[in-house]
Amino acid sequence: MEVTVEVTVPEFKITPKISLAPRKTALIIGDMLVDFVSPRGKLFVKDSRQTIRPIRGLLSQARKSGVMVVFIQDWHLPDDPEFSIWGAHAIQGSPGSQVIPELAPLPRENVVRKRTYDPFFGTDLDLLLRQKNIRTLVVTGTVANICVLHAAASASLRGYEVIIPMDTLSALHPFDYQCAWRQISFVYQGKITQSSGIKFRK
Ligand code: ZN
Repeated sequence: MEVTVEVTVPEFKITPKISLAPRKTALIIGDMLVDFVSPRGKLFVKDSRQTIRPIRGLLSQARKSGVMVVFIQDWHLPDDPEFSIWGAHAIQGSPGSQVIPELAPLPRENVVRKRTYDPFFGTDLDLLLRQKNIRTLVVTGTVANICVLHAAASASLRGYEVIIPMDTLSALHPFDYQCAWRQISFVYQGKITQSSGIKFRK
């Protein structure tokens, strides 16, 4: 039997303007890969298309201000357990596992490859950030309640401050999108804002 339940999303606060220290901040771009963002992708998240522009805006601002940029790349073995839920996607080295051309990493930028939802699990993301004394993460990308939520949760549990620009996230279902806000802003005390509200200090 399948049931549908209607609920109201509890209120959460949006911080209109956030000013960040460039040397202590990293911009995280999660899973903006061909398989998720291209209409021909294996696990296409339709709403991700409208996040390309705001993420590009933040990326160019970060590059100009010398802010560390980390791309997270889903990078699966052909039989990873996750596929029982989602079907095969982002298999290591496949065209679908590549970051979309609009957001392509520069050679000097960091790319962290992960095999689970959590970009900190079994990767060197934490070490990478700590070696640069990063304290604050601006987390963007897809899927809001999967990679992004796990990135925000894992970062917060490790003591990083988490900032989430709402317009840079996407999910497969509106509930999933709202669910991510609720968890990140309440349980993990992340700050919710819009990409236009983020400024990197000079
Ligand atoms: Zn995956």
